[in-house]
Amino acid sequence: MIISEDKLRLILLKSGFVAPEELEAATKISHDLDTPLIDVVIERGIILERFLGEAIADHIGFPYADIKNEKIAKKILNLLPANVANKKRMVIFGENKDVVSLAMENPHDLASVEYVKKRVGKSVKIFFTLANVLNLALDQYKADVKADYEKIISENINAIGQNKAAATDLPVVKIFDTIIEFAASERASDIHIENLGDKVVVRFRVDGKLRDVLELPASIQASIITRIKIISGLRTDDHRIPQDGRFRFKHREDEISVRVSILPTLNGEDAELRLLSQAARPKTLEDLGLSGINLKLVIEGLKQPHGLILSTGPTGSGKTTTLYNILTILNTADVNICTIEDPIEYGLRRVNQIQVNTAAGLTFASGLRSILRHDPNIVLVGEIRDQETAEIATHAALTGHLVLSSLHTNDAISTIPRLEDLGVQPYLIASTLNLAIAQRLVPKNHQSCLVTKELDQTTIDNLIKGFGERLPPAFIQSKKRYYAGAGCDACSHTGFKGRTGIFEVLKFSEKIKQMIIAKKPIPEILSQAKKEGFKAMLEDGLEKVQSGLTTYDEIIKAVKD
Ligand SMILES: [Zn+2]
Repeated sequence: MIISEDKLRLILLKSGFVAPEELEAATKISHDLDTPLIDVVIERGIILERFLGEAIADHIGFPYADIKNEKIAKKILNLLPANVANKKRMVIFGENKDVVSLAMENPHDLASVEYVKKRVGKSVKIFFTLANVLNLALDQYKADVKADYEKIISENINAIGQNKAAATDLPVVKIFDTIIEFAASERASDIHIENLGDKVVVRFRVDGKLRDVLELPASIQASIITRIKIISGLRTDDHRIPQDGRFRFKHREDEISVRVSILPTLNGEDAELRLLSQAARPKTLEDLGLSGINLKLVIEGLKQPHGLILSTGPTGSGKTTTLYNILTILNTADVNICTIEDPIEYGLRRVNQIQVNTAAGLTFASGLRSILRHDPNIVLVGEIRDQETAEIATHAALTGHLVLSSLHTNDAISTIPRLEDLGVQPYLIASTLNLAIAQRLVPKNHQSCLVTKELDQTTIDNLIKGFGERLPPAFIQSKKRYYAGAGCDACSHTGFKGRTGIFEVLKFSEKIKQMIIAKKPIPEILSQAKKEGFKAMLEDGLEKVQSGLTTYDEIIKAVKD
């Protein structure tokens, strides 16, 4: 950041958009969450990004480059090579006969300005821009990258030609490395390599959606699979049994660990690779998609020294990521944290992480028991899915530990009947549960190609059919327009980029605890929660549509059950 926090505070106050008490609150959150103040004020909508950008630019004496939604012509963008632009944090976004317009995160970086002058042979008009905005502009380079990867792969396929390639041959190694690099640069979570008999299809899962990205000749399938087996430490001579392995690789600054499954099929063997990127982990609760009252409840809930915090949702709803995120926030020098997980998805510094190993008799329950003998302050149990684990976890929460876990329920309130099903007594539920966080993941509109859309009758009908009286009153009448990504090169013409969570957070207040002990019906407890400010996931989703983060259709798909 080009200016100090103190300077930023002054600029914010002077701008007139931020009241002093708002600024104090934001500064405190920034310190509590170890997040730069500038991110806090933008993410929480305390000041619009553009106004903040203009205010800072004004302060340091440069014009502001508002290039957030600007598609920069290839010819202009490529006046600077991608690696220099990324490294020096600058992008050329305009050009005329003798001047280029240069947007920089740090306009005082005169050495870089000199470099640009020399390189393009023109004078340079310097603009300031915000880091977020610059990142979106830098993304526009990526549209070219796909073509580069495809070129490397086809060159290597040609190099193999009609010959039979061994797994250790350079072209095979190169093809597989390129597939992996390509997947990482697309932020894919999975790679599927599938032999269809006459050809091999490579698919990437990006933001939850699987799509075809490459075709390879069927003749090289066997050597690619063998290559994968070699680097994952699997048996290359066995083609009849499914095998699981793993390997790691570095992509730019990121360390990616890959879980590999090899599956025998009619046409030989297929491979499924799950990529877990350290860098792709959301860094803050806001990155997860927590906002407003939900964010507030979670931040408050994390201050409780003991009790149970449950993250709920179906498989793939992001509940594990939420737990990791909470652990990262709680991970300070003075606490002892232990986890029992299946699998360990991310390594956490200073945390004792244990992997479930059922074959060796190490289950969630037995692992949790042995962890508790070390008397940690905070315990993460990957999932509560049986009576024994439920019992040990709740007792640990009762006896002074903060216990985090996940539960397979659709919404937050269902944690109560689910725990009862698992044999936990109502008084124990009431005396341990602090928070239940339910969530889903939805695709996020690509913010660089947003357009406004009219809410059409089909969508309105689907909303009414799907949710009926759960829709907030007067909702349909008032919200006629919404935002959606138009689709561009940088988002592979999907209109989406990345995902965000939609949440509901249930705080177990004194009143609610009493109702649980008194065995009140669930709908009664839910209406009490609503009186206390509980916001249902549907409402959170609809708010995120209104703020341009996602679309109605995605909310309907995610929350319909
Ligand atoms: Zn786009």
